[in-house]
Amino acid sequence: MKIMKFGGSSVATAERMRQIGEILLTLDIKNEQVILVVSALRNITDQLLECASLAANNQEDYKKIFKYISERHLELLSNLVEEKNNPLAYGSVKKILHELYKTLHSIQYLRDNDLYILDLVASFGEQLSATILAAYLNSLFPARFVDARQFIITNNHFTNARVLYEESSHAIQNYFDQFFKQEEEYTVPIVTGFIGMTKDKHATTLGRDGSNYTLAVLGAALNARVIEIWSDVDGVYSADPKLIPSSVVQPTLSYIEAEELSNFRVKVIRSAIIPQLIEKNIPMYVKNTFNPTAVGTYISLHAKSSAIKNVSVMHGLVLITLSTLFPIEISISHIIERLFRVLPSAGIHLTLITQTSSTHDVCFSIHETEAKRVQELINIEFLHEFQQNFLMIKKSANQSLIVLIGNNIKQLLSNLGKIFIDLDHHHIRLNGIAHGTSECNMSFVINSNQSHKALEVIHHSIFQNPS
Ligand code: ASP
Ligand code: MG
Repeated sequence: MKIMKFGGSSVATAERMRQIGEILLTLDIKNEQVILVVSALRNITDQLLECASLAANNQEDYKKIFKYISERHLELLSNLVEEKNNPLAYGSVKKILHELYKTLHSIQYLRDNDLYILDLVASFGEQLSATILAAYLNSLFPARFVDARQFIITNNHFTNARVLYEESSHAIQNYFDQFFKQEEEYTVPIVTGFIGMTKDKHATTLGRDGSNYTLAVLGAALNARVIEIWSDVDGVYSADPKLIPSSVVQPTLSYIEAEELSNFRVKVIRSAIIPQLIEKNIPMYVKNTFNPTAVGTYISLHAKSSAIKNVSVMHGLVLITLSTLFPIEISISHIIERLFRVLPSAGIHLTLITQTSSTHDVCFSIHETEAKRVQELINIEFLHEFQQNFLMIKKSANQSLIVLIGNNIKQLLSNLGKIFIDLDHHHIRLNGIAHGTSECNMSFVINSNQSHKALEVIHHSIFQNPS
């Protein structure tokens, strides 16, 4: 079995949906079952969320956006399927739009803008795109719309729900067993990405780009031979091509590298790497709908080589150093123990933490939006130590993190040596360095005003001018 996910830009217009049809026609769907997962049409999720908040604030403008959403989908359908050939499809799309309108109207009436409302409204985007794509593809080969809320069971973290894998995987297996029994063997299910349902039947969404997550869960639950992300780029690049125009597509990545990249929010594979995929060793391709013959990126257990594969940047960080001149009175290990207790339990995410053999200090970075809160928490926790002048705190704002990803990164000494020499040559200072235990991540903290230059220098050093 093969499961393919088509993202928002791959379903944005009639022409693009036709391209999906062409790609599918090159497959031997009678010999290998194929399942499609789809995102909402490009920009629709944003517009739906905007509609929901306008309606909740009693701003009539939501009606204009609704009208636009409605016309865009009906026009798309009419470009792909004639009403007389498939009146049911028209009926379904109009029914979903009508329900959306009723929902928005109720939100306006109730002035309710809880997160669950956002998820309910966002869920219409994938219902619409999957219904239209299924109607079109069904004119080429047997295809049918499938609402994933029947088997993607989630917790109730609205807008960023986690899939309850055990429950969902049973539900998925049962659902598709039945599906392929009832339908002709090679009917292609067109599944809504991104949306799920809590046990008490509230619609949820799986976070932005969550269709990748749906794909991964289906792939693992159904033991797919391969899963594929079809988007509008040729694969996973060595850096964000918008920042580094000379970046290149990486033909292979290991799961671990890909997981690090999806954590650092390389959009095309965001949320796509889940432990169950790795456990079952299910490989993943990243392919371009607009350039289907390009090789893409192949993600699997074994990466061919140890090499740096990607460099990315994360902005808006604050670096905090806690230090003591009296390591006898106050040990840094003890400080770290208390930090690790206080900050994570307040929901603070530490992007990086370093401590060397020195017993004097510990340094960590956090997002600047959390800086004030962190300062308050530290003030309370270490009140006594500050009063006694045992502890000092130093904060550096406007920091960026440059992250290098590659298997066995710490063994790539000549690469790293060259990077350090090149950075020095450009007078770029490192304010912190951390090496992840996954063996494939090395991060540098840099002043934000030097981060773009640093990204260019490092990318050039690795990929354009390798040693
Ligand atoms: N439509 C959702 C989004 O825009 C999910 C996805 O595209 O995967 O984030
Ligand atoms: Mg998308």
